[in-house]
Amino acid sequence: MFVIQENRITQETPQPIIDVPSKSIPRRPEWLKAKPPIGEGYSRLKNIMEEHKLHTVCEEARCPNTGECWNSGTATFMILGDVCTRSCGFCNVKTGLPTELDADEPRRVAEAVKLMNLKHAVITSVNRDELYDGGSFIFADTIREVRKQNPQTTIEVLIPDFKGDEFALVNVLDAFPDILNHNVETVPRLYSTVRPQAKYERSLELLSRAKQRGFKTKTGIMVGLGENEQEVLKTMKDISQTKCDILTLGQYLQPTKNHLPVERFIHPDEFALYKKAGMEMGFQHVESGPLVRSSYHAAKHV
Ligand code: SF4
Repeated sequence: MFVIQENRITQETPQPIIDVPSKSIPRRPEWLKAKPPIGEGYSRLKNIMEEHKLHTVCEEARCPNTGECWNSGTATFMILGDVCTRSCGFCNVKTGLPTELDADEPRRVAEAVKLMNLKHAVITSVNRDELYDGGSFIFADTIREVRKQNPQTTIEVLIPDFKGDEFALVNVLDAFPDILNHNVETVPRLYSTVRPQAKYERSLELLSRAKQRGFKTKTGIMVGLGENEQEVLKTMKDISQTKCDILTLGQYLQPTKNHLPVERFIHPDEFALYKKAGMEMGFQHVESGPLVRSSYHAAKHV
């Protein structure tokens, strides 16, 4: 069971759970250059988010695609606050003990979806392990409210593992998201540093449960954290056995020097090999490339 350790709780800065060697972040190769977050579309979305007091994973995670996605009118909402009870080594979201639970958030997300005229909305959250339901009721309310205000919009939720609680998962599924996404994130050998409070088998189990209930499922893996090619392929195979429909693979990028370092920049050719292997394993869609994120080009996956 997850226990919040006092020396890791802070409202101010992310606290990776491991000792990360303090070294400068290496220069990115040419294939990882992305558009800067500027432009009319970007400013418009920024205003909508600020006016509605909403968070996005695009900004919290310093996603390299923010310029491209926001200028094309796409963003990923991050609900349940901006403080996460976990301390994953790759993630830039603040770690701490959250204090807020905002019952009006679902309505504001739905309103923002309407203003953005989204055909496909992606909603994720921080982990709220301190709540008895893991925040699943707010997830479900958000799906229902978005659908009520935007009946033509398809909805994808990228959910936490809810510590394996099937009751919490069913809360979300009862609101009928169009896609149930849960990221495996990395190969099992690296869980203790990359996702120390998560369990590989638990994430696979969540994907299996959602699939058994007839949902379209999706997951993602980051590469470049120190895994090798065989481990990536084995992880993909494990995921395919849950009958998961959609797989994303992208390059891990170190958000700050306090986070896990990039061990390797994966060449686009290697991403192409993973895509081919994934399609042969039976995934319906594999999005694989250096700048791919879980929600990158998500509307295409529906
Ligand atoms: S890829 Fe996802 S997280 Fe990144 S900017 Fe686009 S919508 Fe946001």
